[in-house]
Amino acid sequence: MEKADRSPVTVADLGSQVLISLALGAAFPADPLMGEEDASQIRGNATGDIRAALHARLAELIPGLDEQTAEAALERCDDAGGPRGRWWTLDPVDGTKGFLRGGQYAVALALIEDGAVQLGVLGCPNLERADGRTGSIFVAQHGRGTWELALDGEADETRVRVAGICDPSQARYAESLEAAHSAQDEALLIAERLGITEPPLRLDSQVKYGLVARGDASVYLRIPRGGYVENIWDHAAGAIVVTEAGGIVTDVDGVPLDWTTGRRLDRNRGIIAAPAAIHGAVVAAARSVLPVRPG
Ligand code: AMP
Ligand code: MG
Repeated sequence: MEKADRSPVTVADLGSQVLISLALGAAFPADPLMGEEDASQIRGNATGDIRAALHARLAELIPGLDEQTAEAALERCDDAGGPRGRWWTLDPVDGTKGFLRGGQYAVALALIEDGAVQLGVLGCPNLERADGRTGSIFVAQHGRGTWELALDGEADETRVRVAGICDPSQARYAESLEAAHSAQDEALLIAERLGITEPPLRLDSQVKYGLVARGDASVYLRIPRGGYVENIWDHAAGAIVVTEAGGIVTDVDGVPLDWTTGRRLDRNRGIIAAPAAIHGAVVAAARSVLPVRPG
């Protein structure tokens, strides 16, 4: 179906949120959860098909799961976040457009405590690993580094690090495939200012953060269009995956991401993720290219 903002939502988005909500609820019953999907989407007349398909698929995965329990798991993902306490934020399928076209998408979960991201888990089912097989999970814990695990369990976990470059002209940057999500023309101007000659890697979802964390891309540029304000669940897991791998993640003005403002990053605009050695140069180039921040 199409959401109010015209983005797509599928049985997979809703089902993933139900499954993760049930698992977190069992493990940490007291922890609130902020999930992207809103249970009201499966209420009402126009949604009979998706609701029935959701319950049919969930029943295959968890035999005996009743519809009330499943919908309560979806419904409880309405936490408002804020500056205090411990809560989780979930994007059950980030990059739904990528998922639908068979491209990149991610299941993104983060734990936030008193405004700081403590843990990030980024499942990337369509991402190729160094061993040539497909499917990675990035796990980052504050102070413990970032690790890449094989989704199929067929390889040992490896610690990943951002690209070891010191000269920004050597960078390869990643950006959204969807031109509506990031101003690709302005990103190109920033890249030119830095002397970057490699074309950008364009892909959906927070897999971009995974590529930066393991050095396949060195920079992630997300340049907002028309004052767009980012959602917390679109960045919390990815941001710690990059910072624990030796990167820095800020907005396009170099301002640290402020996780305390509710469901959206109200005090930030856009994203720049890069290795610590070149992040300052990338921010300086962005500031010279982009219009001055309003207000
Ligand atoms: P990406 O796959 O990196 O292009 O980002 C996907 C995310 O972009 C979705 O989860 C949406 O929350 C978000 N999004 C939707 N509309 C916009 C927009 N106009 N600008 C930036 N991000 C958006
Ligand atoms: Mg998303």
